[in-house]
Amino acid sequence: MQLIITGGTVVTASTVTRADVGIDHGRIVAIGTDLGAADQILDASGRLVLPGGVDPHVHLDTPVMGTVTADDYPSGTIAAACGGTTTVIDFCFQMPGERLQDALAGWHRRADGRSAIDYGFHSVVADPRPEVLDELESLPAQGISSFKLFMAYRGALQVDDWAMLRVLEIAQRRGALVLVHAENAEMTHLLQQRLLAAGQTGPRSHLVSRPPLVEVEATHRAIALAELVAAPLYLVHMSCGAALDELVRGRARGVRVVGETCPHYLVTSTADFDRPGFEAAKYCYSPPPRQPGDQQRLWQALADGTLHAVGSDHAPFNFVGQKDLGRDDFTRIPAGAPGIEERMIMLYQGVVAGRLSLSRFVDLVATTPARLFGLAPHKGSIAPGADADIVLWNPHATLTLSPDVLHQRVDYTINHGRTVQGLPETVLLRGDVIVRGRQYVGTLGSGQFVRRGPPVL
Ligand code: MN
Ligand code: MN
Repeated sequence: MQLIITGGTVVTASTVTRADVGIDHGRIVAIGTDLGAADQILDASGRLVLPGGVDPHVHLDTPVMGTVTADDYPSGTIAAACGGTTTVIDFCFQMPGERLQDALAGWHRRADGRSAIDYGFHSVVADPRPEVLDELESLPAQGISSFKLFMAYRGALQVDDWAMLRVLEIAQRRGALVLVHAENAEMTHLLQQRLLAAGQTGPRSHLVSRPPLVEVEATHRAIALAELVAAPLYLVHMSCGAALDELVRGRARGVRVVGETCPHYLVTSTADFDRPGFEAAKYCYSPPPRQPGDQQRLWQALADGTLHAVGSDHAPFNFVGQKDLGRDDFTRIPAGAPGIEERMIMLYQGVVAGRLSLSRFVDLVATTPARLFGLAPHKGSIAPGADADIVLWNPHATLTLSPDVLHQRVDYTINHGRTVQGLPETVLLRGDVIVRGRQYVGTLGSGQFVRRGPPVL
């Protein structure tokens, strides 16, 4: 064998076991004791041995509202690796008039040969012309087994119910999964126009223009559309208890709908909009932060299986030079927050606090996202035959978060000053050590595009 990881506690979505892990040719070949000889031994005493994280929701090198996300593939995937994530799925945006194939070629140019970890693409359908829908039929066979639709962003990314039904039908027929950003674009637009007319141009208006009702209405509608055509549905970045109620009701009716939340909804709230000056712009993402009671509902839903996955929705914009594009008009603040490196660390705080079991943590950050997006059995689990994407996690290490201790190429973190417990120390990608002691030691470009299979719900 190439490598044996000895003395650690192996955590999967269903088990926590003291065991050694044998690796050969980049794959896990044995789990147990007395595995024999190897070229190399990695001592994992006192460490948790986790599957590499699978982040199903990131935005790298992506044009947004007249600017571009602060992280590109090199910087963003190094940050992801340092946070324990070994596979990301990025959103390939279609520009108006563009073919999906050309959009995908553009995303390959951004990523190929420049990534620290493995990656795949969701295909965003923003201009659903008939020939684009024809194109969509062929994407699953090319390893693009998920499509993204926006109900938000009027006049830009928003698609109407007819287009949603058509895309859901294709996904149902071809074995793909549709992801939906569920916010009612017209409701937000009305509130934005009123706020601007009243001279309420500051960042707090971002919050006021996107109340829970905006998310709840769209969540209900997305589930109903999927129900009509018997298609599976993945709701991204669910933020509040009232939207979770729609998810629960849909599942009770038999709809194959699953939900994702993001760490920022677990740790930020409307109170962050009380910060002085323009500071609140750091918390302008869509949907916006909610009430403390919603945070409790989300934690409970993560623990009891109502929610299925945690994505970072990494959409980094520098506070100076990017967020301030909207200093005089909140509708021009690029929406999003960084978090690709902090995703697993922040969710692990739920383990520290006794809200989540170790296995549930692994399931939410790796195993279920891998399964839903057609990456299983190679990704998301520690099992014979799986890629040796492995994290040695120190459950006792602590760190006080700030931009200085993170690798994300952005000038702030929403977790600034928070002291966290539990950190990834050593990260392997297909058997090679790429992070040691929170430093990236891999070779950029060793990350590979992953052709994904059909979703398993
Ligand atoms: Mn979104
Ligand atoms: Mn997003």
